Amino acid sequence: MWDFVDPLKALADAERKPYWLDSPARPEPRPRLTGGTTADLVVVGGGFSGLWTALMAKERDPSLDVVLLEGRRIGWAATGRNGGFCMATLTHGLANGLERWPEEIDRLERMGVENLDEIERTLERYGVDCSFERTGELHVATEPWQVESLNEHLDLISELGLDYVPMDREQVRAEVNSPTYLAGLWERSGCAMLDPARLAWGLREACLRLGVRVHERTPVRSMRDDGATISLRTPYGVVTARQVALGTGVFPPLLRRLRHFMVPVYDYALMTEPLTAAQLASVGWHNRQGVGDSGNRFHYYRLSDDNRILWGGYDAVYYNGGLVKAEYEQRDETFVKLAGHFYDTFPQLADVRFTHRWGGVIDTCSRFSAFYGQAHGGRLVYAAGYTGMGVGATRFGANVMLDLLSGEPTERTELRMVREKPIPFPPEPVRSGVIQFTRWSIAQADQHEGRRNLWLRTLDRMGLGFDS
Ligand SMILES: Cc1cc2nc3c(=O)[nH]c(=O)nc-3n(C[C@H](O)[C@H](O)[C@H](O)COP(=O)(O)OP(=O)(O)OC[C@H]3O[C@@H](n4cnc5c(N)ncnc54)[C@H](O)[C@@H]3O)c2cc1C
Repeated sequence: MWDFVDPLKALADAERKPYWLDSPARPEPRPRLTGGTTADLVVVGGGFSGLWTALMAKERDPSLDVVLLEGRRIGWAATGRNGGFCMATLTHGLANGLERWPEEIDRLERMGVENLDEIERTLERYGVDCSFERTGELHVATEPWQVESLNEHLDLISELGLDYVPMDREQVRAEVNSPTYLAGLWERSGCAMLDPARLAWGLREACLRLGVRVHERTPVRSMRDDGATISLRTPYGVVTARQVALGTGVFPPLLRRLRHFMVPVYDYALMTEPLTAAQLASVGWHNRQGVGDSGNRFHYYRLSDDNRILWGGYDAVYYNGGLVKAEYEQRDETFVKLAGHFYDTFPQLADVRFTHRWGGVIDTCSRFSAFYGQAHGGRLVYAAGYTGMGVGATRFGANVMLDLLSGEPTERTELRMVREKPIPFPPEPVRSGVIQFTRWSIAQADQHEGRRNLWLRTLDRMGLGFDS
């Protein structure tokens, strides 16, 4: 349908960097760690996981001496290059949570909403301006089989008394005007849109105000258990700490056992130039929701505060061998495909061009939602595996880590979701084969009215999967 727009031309001037990080608001990096020091708690990683952990550690106990070590720049990785959908869900969506932890789902949903409420209150408390807009998310169906799957959700939703508005074809198009929409479901309060990089920088500022010592460009190269303490070695220094929290995402883990539970999956996004008033009026979008379509391979898109459209998702790429590499952050084949899908969805925006294109790495685990744990006699904790839905859930994970370090059981640490681990991925080269076959099967399902082949049905029965 987009034959009349040449995606290559539309992308010609798009910068090859994440839009959110390309901002004059990006603060100068904090100094590297040099020499030796001690701390009560060292947090490794300056993404949302590490920032929330450091901030809330200080809020819980202002006398605690907290050091945060970030290998590169605060928020440079997934944290500063995501869609900015800050969701209440802690389980990568209601359906996934219900399937895995049916007896806990009421509590998980409640705790997720409380977590999102707390994020909103924290932003107010510290004056963090990250264009937080609690507009919800509009799930749209673009194929008849997706209408059925949205309807299946309805029974569930009414059972749990959640705030969702079902929409037919006319209603959803009146909300956001695309000729591809067949139905919609607006989840009204369970999601906020925000600028993720400005959130990360705001959290950094709040940490500094509470006295956290933040060091950037300070990768931790190794850890040593000294008995009562743990020493972390960096290129120019060493910190000896009573406790350690790892918020290191999918990067090569300092705790080797974590390698089995996560694989790096690359996800890609585009950003348009700001829409003119007339272009925006042609789409409607007065309620400014985040939008997600309902295929197994899905797009997510949203407005920025200056009315650009961020358009991402669909291809979730696992590169054989499972490495994290800068060169994987650009993939022209995917950018062209994404641009084409954009013009299919909004043909009235044929004259809109893209200003940025980028990719980022996601910590995918086989249950799609984070896992948590302890090591070194309980002195080290970790949370990872958010599988593309960590903007909000990392704050919950940070609280779990601090609960575990405190040694006191809490409602969070009692959850089966927190106590159990996901099923590990097989080692390479089997891992690559299994993942690529699963990706192929998922694409096939989308092309055949959502019908899942024997392989996907077997994985479903085993509670295993692949997602971004
Ligand atoms: C393109 C894209 C779109 C996404 N869209 C959404 C979305 O709309 N909504 C949503 O909820 N989620 C989304 N996500 C996922 C979300 O961004 C992540 O779940 C979240 O940012 C994870 O934060 P993190 O702190 O755990 O990891 P990261 O942001 O990856 O941070 C980990 C940090 O640890 C540092 N580190 C690692 N090892 C070391 C070491 N040894 N020493 C020092 N530092 C170290 C790294 O340098 C990095 O800064 C998306 C992700 C991508 C890539």
